[in-house]
Amino acid sequence: MPEPPLRLSLDGDALVANWRWLRGQGGSAACGAAIKADGYGVGAASVVERLAAAGCRDFFVSTFAEAAALSRFPPGLSLSVLHGPRAEDMAVALAGGVIPVLNTSEQVARWRAAGGGRCHVMVDTGMNRLGLSVEEARSGLLDGLAIDTLMSHLACADEPGHPLNEQQLFTFRMLRGMIPAQRYSLANSAGICLGRRYALGLTRPGLALYGGIPVPVAAPHIRPVVGVSAQVVQLRSVAKGASVGYGATFVAPEPMPVAILNIGYADGYLRGFSDKGDTDAGPVIGRVSMDLIAVDARGSSPREGDWIGIGFDLPSASAASGLSQYELLTTLGHRYQRRWT
Ligand SMILES: *Cc1c(COP(=O)(O)O)cnc(C)c1O
Repeated sequence: MPEPPLRLSLDGDALVANWRWLRGQGGSAACGAAIKADGYGVGAASVVERLAAAGCRDFFVSTFAEAAALSRFPPGLSLSVLHGPRAEDMAVALAGGVIPVLNTSEQVARWRAAGGGRCHVMVDTGMNRLGLSVEEARSGLLDGLAIDTLMSHLACADEPGHPLNEQQLFTFRMLRGMIPAQRYSLANSAGICLGRRYALGLTRPGLALYGGIPVPVAAPHIRPVVGVSAQVVQLRSVAKGASVGYGATFVAPEPMPVAILNIGYADGYLRGFSDKGDTDAGPVIGRVSMDLIAVDARGSSPREGDWIGIGFDLPSASAASGLSQYELLTTLGHRYQRRWT
């Protein structure tokens, strides 16, 4: 099969270095890894392989379908399903190998009725997204459950001064005193950066593992993991006054060379990069198409078939495109050749 004309270069050493730094920030807490959305677009199986070799033991996906897709998940490690078991997941959930996070009183009842064993429990301490309410958690609903990890999730950890962070920590510590579990877990990537008090027994970073910068203080410590490049399909000369791309939004101010690159919004290079993206061959001009972009090649002299680096420094690509660092990673499509180094 011919190799695809666009590539992700994935740096396994950087992935492991990022995990080690995040683990270090948590002191004696264990450090897991969120690998939902196919490892934030990078490839969950490859991430598990590398982080497991480095000593990571706890991995988190969203759904049982994602867990099933990891058919070769190493035995002895823990794979948790954040959204918990629906009725139609119960057979798989009870078969073992995967630990559900129970988020609702219905899920707790379903797990109990089926005689389910070890589980995690998510309590909502202020985000109002997923999890039992504090009242439900304190009501006796959880009595006698074999809770491995009691967890909650921070709503504003990427805003270190936000009062909700301290409030959620306070509430979660109160719950820790009331609900017995093997471990307690609160912090995502940004939560780890709030300080050791947030680490408790287990941290659950995602974004920063993959090179995302959750808060500016992490920037010097987090290495980029994902590099994007695409091949030049055509180099053309555009006349002064002629337009480029859909909607004719870019008009050439002078005769100029334009390189057409093999990447587009179907590859997660979304239209927010229209007239905003940057590449090693020059800036993106005009609208991003489904499979192609046009680049102002006045300052470079690329040729057909050349591989061109696409600017994918996550904080600056996020600022340029208006997409979050999470969106930039998780929308990377399936057309890339993924190459780990
Ligand atoms: C996605 C997720 C994480 C990881 O969050 P990041 O911000 O990517 O570090 C941790 N915990 C839960 C419950 C999540 O859903």
